[in-house]
Amino acid sequence: MIFIDLDEFGMINDSYGHRFGDKLLFEISKVFKEVFDSTAFIARMGGDEFGIILNSGDKEEITFFMQKLLDKFSNPFTIDFIDIYITASSGICIFPDNAKTMEDLYQEADVAMYNAKKRGKNRFSFYHAQFKKDAISYTQMVTNLKQAIKNEELELYFQLQNDSTRGEIVGIEALLRWRHQDKMIPPDIFIPLAEKSGLIIDIGNFVLRNGFKTVKRWHELGILKGRVAINISARQLVHLDFIKTLKAMLKETECEALWIELEITESSILENPKLTISLLQQIKALGFYISMDDFGTGYSSLSYLKNLPIDKLKIDKSFITNIQNEPKNQIIVKTIIFLAKELGIDILAEGVETQEEVDFLVENKIDSIQGYYYAKPMPLNEIETVLQA
Ligand code: C2E
Ligand code: CA
Ligand code: CA
Repeated sequence: MIFIDLDEFGMINDSYGHRFGDKLLFEISKVFKEVFDSTAFIARMGGDEFGIILNSGDKEEITFFMQKLLDKFSNPFTIDFIDIYITASSGICIFPDNAKTMEDLYQEADVAMYNAKKRGKNRFSFYHAQFKKDAISYTQMVTNLKQAIKNEELELYFQLQNDSTRGEIVGIEALLRWRHQDKMIPPDIFIPLAEKSGLIIDIGNFVLRNGFKTVKRWHELGILKGRVAINISARQLVHLDFIKTLKAMLKETECEALWIELEITESSILENPKLTISLLQQIKALGFYISMDDFGTGYSSLSYLKNLPIDKLKIDKSFITNIQNEPKNQIIVKTIIFLAKELGIDILAEGVETQEEVDFLVENKIDSIQGYYYAKPMPLNEIETVLQA
């Protein structure tokens, strides 16, 4: 049993519409038919998931088919004259070695598929008993995450951003937390899952609504310092209703756009530069401040910096850590700061932990600093105490 799940398919639906997505699914199903021989049973399980029953228990033979499939996916699919590159992650479970009932086969192929995703997508994994101990199945996690929204297991934490020389608070970033059965599941785990499953839209709306409400409250209490930054995932940004949602949320919470900074990542731009530029212009026109998150880690094209209405760059932690001993990172960071200053863009360093890092950044005229050096992200009551002080 082979369980195939397309990578980032939701993004295509969001950017090009469902009709386009359907056409792509149709083309992809043709590729499955080409790759697997006529004895294979091929089914669409729903959404962007396919199940294939192959009449073989030979790992070598299965690997041959899977390699052929990966090769096919390295070429673009052409839909309405647009070239679309898409990849797939697959999990393989063998009867009767790995599972004996249909239900178990399905579940374990799903677990193996999730392992393929975890290893970086665009690949396949054979089921291994260890996987089951490592992770609950992908479908189970998605179900739990769906419940999390309803059961109010999601909560915003807040981290300070400080002026690099005077140390005063110049902003705050809202960071999402999932408290599940007394465990904190880190956003690095559940945000990608939410993006994949489409839940990011609901989760993103939760973050916007709660973020806006909190900011309104701080403004009324007179304790708002600078702007509050909210992370926007690529899929959320290109979703057809995003601008409408922003407007509706502002109205509903009586929050003002100028109190809010929206953080987007470089990868959102790469997916669809033209669309992103137009969206960011609309967001800017509403009065929001826009920052580019994790700067330097994506495939940043410097020409975007010129064309995008970006107010701030956030230099990624990977360049900052231990910078006093990393001559190459020093050059990169100095150059990014110089570039930002010349372009009139604010510049912040992320993940700053030590005095040595601060010293280097201050010496090189960074505007602001975010990191454990000043404070870790903290829950609402704690940040309010800090803001009131
Ligand atoms: P990010 O946007 O780059 O957020 C900064 C991350 O670095 C946060 O991790 C923060 O806790 C951590 N951090 C800050 N200062 C330091 C430091 O000095 N040292 C170290 N080691 N880490 C530091 P967190 O909260 O686990 O969030 C991880 C990522 O999850 C975020 O990275 C962001 O991409 C995503 N995320 C968090 N909340 C949201 C959200 O509401 N929506 C979306 N779409 N993504 C979110
Ligand atoms: Ca961020
Ligand atoms: Ca970041």
